[in-house]
Amino acid sequence: MLQPAGGRVAISLPLGALDAAVIFAPMIAKAVPSEFERIAARVLDGARITFDEGVWLIKHAPVHELAALAHTVRERKMAAAGRSELVTYVISRNINYTNVCITDCDFCSFYRHPLEDGAYSLNLDELRQKAQETLDLGGTEILLQGGHNPKLPLKYYQDMLGLFEQMGLHNHAFSPSEIQHFAKFWRMSLPDVLVELKHAGLKSIPGGGAEILVDRVREIICPKKGGADAWLEPMREAHKLGIRSSATMMFGHVETLEERIQHLERLRALQDETGGFTAFICWTFQNADNDMSHIEMTGAHDYLRTQAVARIYLDNFENCQASWVTQGGQVGQVSLRYGCNDMGSLMIEENVVRLAGAAFRMTEYEIRRLIRDAGYQPNRRNFYYDVLKEPAGLDETLEAAVNQHGKQRVAIEA
Ligand code: SF4
Repeated sequence: MLQPAGGRVAISLPLGALDAAVIFAPMIAKAVPSEFERIAARVLDGARITFDEGVWLIKHAPVHELAALAHTVRERKMAAAGRSELVTYVISRNINYTNVCITDCDFCSFYRHPLEDGAYSLNLDELRQKAQETLDLGGTEILLQGGHNPKLPLKYYQDMLGLFEQMGLHNHAFSPSEIQHFAKFWRMSLPDVLVELKHAGLKSIPGGGAEILVDRVREIICPKKGGADAWLEPMREAHKLGIRSSATMMFGHVETLEERIQHLERLRALQDETGGFTAFICWTFQNADNDMSHIEMTGAHDYLRTQAVARIYLDNFENCQASWVTQGGQVGQVSLRYGCNDMGSLMIEENVVRLAGAAFRMTEYEIRRLIRDAGYQPNRRNFYYDVLKEPAGLDETLEAAVNQHGKQRVAIEA
């Protein structure tokens, strides 16, 4: 929990896996419960909170109690799934196959226009080499995201997906705005694009590009990406085809607190309809070297508060990932007490958020240590959150690698 302490920020964890009834019983027993106590009682009864209650929580809830409530929701879900002791993570490589883009999002530090210096698209040999490195480091998944490149044909994407599939890697690829771009430039319907990509080896879709699912906000920060439906529609079509996805939120820029809850409401409604989301991940806007650099970045307190409300609001989502890439390992660890049950990816390569200013990196050894120090057992997983069998002696091998190589290598073959 973050509290001002003599001008500094002191960290102390809220109560852990205690029975929620014990935490809240004294409050609930009072003759006139406060608004927080009233909402908490409903959550503990298993009720779904309303939009207005979500807004109230994010604006007014006392942060210790909010964290404890989110943690209780998380613990209940994990107990129901039979994995109370675990915090998972996936070894993934984020390949940004092209940085050529014509969409000009204000917050983006990554893209180049087609003829600009530094514009690139990776060829098959380069892609193969990155995939092999991923396998060598124990990776199971490739996260493919790129710019909206008007020159790359369907065949480029088919070859790329086919290559990774052949090499035994899971293709977690193309956020909804890329799929919209494909449909426009290849003159195909969204379902037809998705069927072609699925046929080529697409297994799941990352939730990137959701930003805030409110048209007013998107009109300001990414007007060429379209409104909220431009993100939701490809997700809906993908889920109908059995292609599952994650969901994201990038916040802390021009949106209001009400608009953050509107975003959660849109996600919850689509999840009710399709059940296709595996997880929710939120992170804070990064302001380095982009057209929104004048906006001050929000901090760990806002991140944790928003994460806690999201865990409570998204009652139909099983998993919440910590965003240690933007917040750092320690805040990522604390978020395990604000509703998160997963440490996300050990990213062998990440360019988009790094170029916008997030510079945090961790080795697999560090991720596992942070999970253990928070009171959980670390375990590798796949995209579907299936717990993977780990190699014998993994911890000893990781420790030996850190002793030998320092913290330069993010993962090791094991
Ligand atoms: S965020 Fe994506 S779509 Fe927007 S400018 Fe950057 S690469 Fe292009």
